[in-house]
Amino acid sequence: MELPLLPTTVIGSYPRPKWLREVIALRKAGRISEDDLKEAFNDAAVTVMRDHLIAGIDVPTDGEVKRDEMVEFFAERLKGFKFYGPVRVWGTAYYRKPSVVDKIEYVRPMLLDEVEFTKSISYTPNFKVTITGPYTMGYWSYNEYYKSRRDMVFDLAKAINSEIRSLVDAGAKIIQVDEPAIHSTKDEVPWAIEAVNESIKGINAKLMVHICYGDYKLVAPYLNDLKVDQINFALKIYDYKPLKLLKEVGFEKELGAGVIDVHNKRVESPEEVQKDLMTILRYFPPEKVWVNPDCGLKLQPRKIAFEKMVSMVNGTRLAREELKKGENRK
Ligand SMILES: [Zn+2]
Repeated sequence: MELPLLPTTVIGSYPRPKWLREVIALRKAGRISEDDLKEAFNDAAVTVMRDHLIAGIDVPTDGEVKRDEMVEFFAERLKGFKFYGPVRVWGTAYYRKPSVVDKIEYVRPMLLDEVEFTKSISYTPNFKVTITGPYTMGYWSYNEYYKSRRDMVFDLAKAINSEIRSLVDAGAKIIQVDEPAIHSTKDEVPWAIEAVNESIKGINAKLMVHICYGDYKLVAPYLNDLKVDQINFALKIYDYKPLKLLKEVGFEKELGAGVIDVHNKRVESPEEVQKDLMTILRYFPPEKVWVNPDCGLKLQPRKIAFEKMVSMVNGTRLAREELKKGENRK
C-alpha cells in the first residue's frame, strides 16, 4: 500500500449535498422513481469523492452518503430486526431504533453495491470502507429475542464477518469497523473486544477500528487485544489528554489521530493541526500515526466540512516538512 508518511483519511461520513436531501424527500413523496434516487446517490458519492480528492485526502471514502444512519442501515438489511418509532440522539437528530425480535442472520450483501461503485470512482485503490461493528449494532438496538446482549452481539459479529468477506472479495483493501459504543459499559468491554475480533476473523485486508466519544479508560487496557492494524480515536476534543493514557497502557497499534473537532464550526488552521501533530509525535513515532478528524464530518455544513479537511491535509503537509527538516539536521 503506497502512502505518504502520516497518511490522511476521514472517518467515513460526510455531509450529504443539499440537492440529495431534496431528492430523497421527493422519493419519499413518491414523485420520482427508485432508479432516479439511485442515480442521485451515485452522483452524490462522486461529488464527495471529488471533495476528498481536491482536499488531498490520501485514503478517501464515499462519505456514506447512501446510508441514512449507521445502525439502521444494517438493521434494515439483516434478518431478525424490526423497527419502532424514532429515538432522539444528539440534540436534534433522530433515528429509528431497531429491535431484535428473531435470530440475527446474514441474508444478502449490504454494502456490496456501494463498494463496487466506490471502487469504480475512486482516485486511489486505497479507499476506505466503513461498517458498523457488532457491539455498537447491539448496544443501539432493543433486545427482545436473545437471553443476553452478549449472545445477540456474537450473532451480529458472524453476520458482519460474512459481509466484510464479500467486500474484500469485491476489492476493498481497507476496512474500518465503527465501534463508538464499545466503551459504554465497563463490564461488557472484554467480550465486546472479542466480538469485534470475531467480526474480522480471517479477513485479508488492512483493518481498523474507530472509537470516539466516551471514557477511553474503560477500553484502553484491551486495545492491544483487538486484532487490527489501526485504531482511530477522537483526540482533538479532549485536547490530546488520552495520549498519555494510550502510552501508559503500551498501545502498540497504528494510531489514527483525531485532529479535527467535528462538533465545532470553527475551522482549525493548518498551523494548529501541525502543532497538534507534533504533540502527538512526542508520544508515538510518525511511522505509526495516521491523521483523521475526531469522527465523521456528517453533521457539519458541507462548506465547513470541506475547509476542515483542507486544513487537516495542509497541516499534515507542514508536519511532514518539519519532520524532514529534523531528519536533515541529524
Ligand atoms: Zn465517531
